[in-house]
Amino acid sequence: DINKAGWSFDNTYARLPNDLLVKQNPIPVKSPELIILNKDLSNDLNLNFTNIEKENLSQLFSGNLLPTGSESIAQAYAGHQFGHFTMLGDGRAVLMGEHVLKNGDRYDIQFKGSGKTPFSRSGDGRAALGPMLREYIVSEAMHELGVNTTRSLAVVKTGENVIRETHLPGAVLTRIATSHIRVGTFQYIAATQKEQNLKILFDYVINRHYPNIKNSKNQALDLLKTIINVQINLVISWMRVGFIHGVMNTDNVSICGETIDYGPCAFMDTYSPETVFSSIDHQGRYSFSNQPKIIKWNLARFAECILTLIDDDKDRAIEIASEAINSFENIYEEKWLNMMRDKLGLFGEDINDQILIMELLTWMHKNKADYTNTFCFLMNEKFSDNKIYNDKNFLIWKEKWEYRLKLNNNSPEKYLKLMHSVNPIIIPRNHKVEEALTAANNGDLEIMNKLLTVLNRPYENHSSIIDFQSPAPSTNKAYQTFCGT
Ligand code: AMP
Ligand code: MG
Ligand code: MG
Repeated sequence: DINKAGWSFDNTYARLPNDLLVKQNPIPVKSPELIILNKDLSNDLNLNFTNIEKENLSQLFSGNLLPTGSESIAQAYAGHQFGHFTMLGDGRAVLMGEHVLKNGDRYDIQFKGSGKTPFSRSGDGRAALGPMLREYIVSEAMHELGVNTTRSLAVVKTGENVIRETHLPGAVLTRIATSHIRVGTFQYIAATQKEQNLKILFDYVINRHYPNIKNSKNQALDLLKTIINVQINLVISWMRVGFIHGVMNTDNVSICGETIDYGPCAFMDTYSPETVFSSIDHQGRYSFSNQPKIIKWNLARFAECILTLIDDDKDRAIEIASEAINSFENIYEEKWLNMMRDKLGLFGEDINDQILIMELLTWMHKNKADYTNTFCFLMNEKFSDNKIYNDKNFLIWKEKWEYRLKLNNNSPEKYLKLMHSVNPIIIPRNHKVEEALTAANNGDLEIMNKLLTVLNRPYENHSSIIDFQSPAPSTNKAYQTFCGT
């Protein structure tokens, strides 16, 4: 039965004050059917499902049957959604437990799409199959790309329909996260104005995620600085692979620095800093190039929540926190520059590096070059149509780049190795993901499984990738994503 998998629960969050959560079981579904189960991730989690019958796995990953030791809860949180503060909470998810590995690592196991909770507001608490498989595909691709992210263990079809613009098959996703504590969790507590809860959550976060801060003189300031850093690292890796999150509300900013909530996200093909895919982001608030600015804004919201822990004197606390927040640009710029140097195989620093990089990006923008494939071209990984790279201005730029490459004892062997470690050859192209989801919605999982296999080795060029490498045909340019489905 489902208890044979090797669960090791220790549900610390469920023991926090009742203000932060409600006990909530998943709402059972009619006829669950397991669609996909992540074997690699199961192994990483010291879980083994091979001796459990499919029927029981369907019951398990739909939330119909909970393993012994699970204590299911919905977590309270708040958030700025497109700039507006709202009280939220798990409206269609429950945390079924914290599973502890043999090495002591601890992971949240969460069901998404598991039915109504007290936080559901007007929502039905459910999710559709397409978006849950989309989260599975994209989050696993991100993991293989080396981007910090929540992961996906399983998707189950519920056998029930959800009503959106039309009737769609319902599904439950099992999401794995280092934790689901968000900037919005702190905002929730700040909004309830219970100072004792703030201290409890704060200590909990330090114990669980950043124990090295325990000995700090000013723990709250160091937590702020640490979270600024992990979020900068996260956004830098998004910029590296061309990922657009699409809904960077403060409730979707993880305290652990993982990419969380794959709603309207998508990968940029043609390079354009203003790229937005989300159907509701009319202002471009969460566009590709706005992501660092928005993260800084979200971090400032976090800082506001912990001011009283930074210093007893409010003005002094604001001064200290502001200084930390205002350090964002310098840290970001330096890390971004180094990331771009890596993408171009440049060792050491040259004062013209920033100009060299900007010139390439400007050329790509003007000429509508594919972001991923341009770096592939520079690594001599050439695919289908390369006419665009015969452009005179590109060749002039390339000569400058080749001259710069020669500095600092660089060799083709060295720079190609560096470039290959940071420039993906394969990303989840939007039209490929859609193709896989359309087939999966019609009961054919083959295309999705093929796509997942290819996304498993994003930095390698091998014979089976050729179909997955090209940007979408130009008829696909108005690609739009939707959240909340
Ligand atoms: P998101 O935009 O995905 O970050 O979700 C924002 C909030 O809406 C969260 O509190 C979700 O739990 C809630 N939510 C999203 N979809 C639904 C749904 N179908 N039913 C209930 N709550 C939902
Ligand atoms: Mg969310
Ligand atoms: Mg969402």
